[in-house]
Amino acid sequence: MQKSGLKTPYFIIDESKLVANLEKAKYLKDISGVKLVLALKCFSTWGVFDLIKPYLDGTTSSGPYEVKLGHETFGGETHAYSVGYSEDDVREVADICDKMIFNSQSQLAAYRHIVEGKASIGLRLNPGVSYAGQDLANPARQFSRLGVQADQINPAVFDSLNGVMFHMNCENKSVTAFKGLLDSISLQFGKYLDELEWVSLGGGVFFTWPDYDIDTLGLALKEFAERHGVQLYLEPGEAIITKTTDLVVTVVDIVENGKKTAIVDSATEAHRLDTLIYNEPASVLEASESGSHDYVIGSCSCLAGDQFCEASFDEPLNIGQKLHLLDSAGYTMVKLNWFNGLKMPSIYCERSNGEVQMLNEFGYEDFKRSLSQWSVK
Ligand SMILES: *Cc1c(COP(=O)(O)O)cnc(C)c1O
Repeated sequence: MQKSGLKTPYFIIDESKLVANLEKAKYLKDISGVKLVLALKCFSTWGVFDLIKPYLDGTTSSGPYEVKLGHETFGGETHAYSVGYSEDDVREVADICDKMIFNSQSQLAAYRHIVEGKASIGLRLNPGVSYAGQDLANPARQFSRLGVQADQINPAVFDSLNGVMFHMNCENKSVTAFKGLLDSISLQFGKYLDELEWVSLGGGVFFTWPDYDIDTLGLALKEFAERHGVQLYLEPGEAIITKTTDLVVTVVDIVENGKKTAIVDSATEAHRLDTLIYNEPASVLEASESGSHDYVIGSCSCLAGDQFCEASFDEPLNIGQKLHLLDSAGYTMVKLNWFNGLKMPSIYCERSNGEVQMLNEFGYEDFKRSLSQWSVK
């Protein structure tokens, strides 16, 4: 398949970039003894899991179908976590997961008997400290429902727990800040951790960021694991797929109302939702900081404020021209929706040898089926 002939909109995952991230992940494992499970809520495009499997230990999930998907398509260790399980969820998941992590002491008490003897049992703790840029994504925010706070723990629960999970980082690029969180956890929960088999420190540690000091992170993890006598886990999502994937779009119109807007055949609300939720503009490969031709890159949805970014270019944009919206994998391909009945982006992988392989393609029937399957009678 030739890249130039692909119909936009589409996502294209670059194998070489993915493997470069995975090599860093493997190095971190080698120097620290940590195990790494992929957070499926960030990235679940199972068509590339064969590329990821050799480097990571398994998957972790945020809901019942992710557990099933991880078990079916990735294998290795399958961690099951949910903020709120129903009894049906627990029964479905218990047979296929290796670890079941409850969010509260009440869920643990209600469902432990279903899991016992089938999977290792864990509880999420909330350390009350965190590193997250936005309040919306801060697990230690005021009144947080995510995990049990230190002052609410009934120490007796640890008698029947195999492990605990903490998740308190979001895109943390500072190893110094992460070490501070580790110290806080040791101080608050150390005596409990000493009794456990495993501790997961969650996701959000951005160890694949350029110039991230992986050696210092590895040493800190190793020391923490030895101090408490536990197998450590991290649950990376974004760190694994960061900067691997472009959303490729075509300019379909150019309009002007005070500013020039290039309208493209995609929308943030449907295809790149976090641009909107977190107000984080996209970056465009073709843009140039010194360019003198300024455009809003506008979406083709009907939402008035729906735009990818503002960007400058060396030359005027033309209708029919392709643009690459960079870094469009994490929390993006898992959130695609059919708003406005827009055409859903196809998904491709560009292999290291240059070959382009199709992973997914959608049509009108998929749109229609997602809305209703039967009519009222
Ligand atoms: C979101 C989440 C992750 C993954 O976070 P990243 O920032 O993508 O690394 C891991 N564990 C839990 C419990 C999460 O909620």
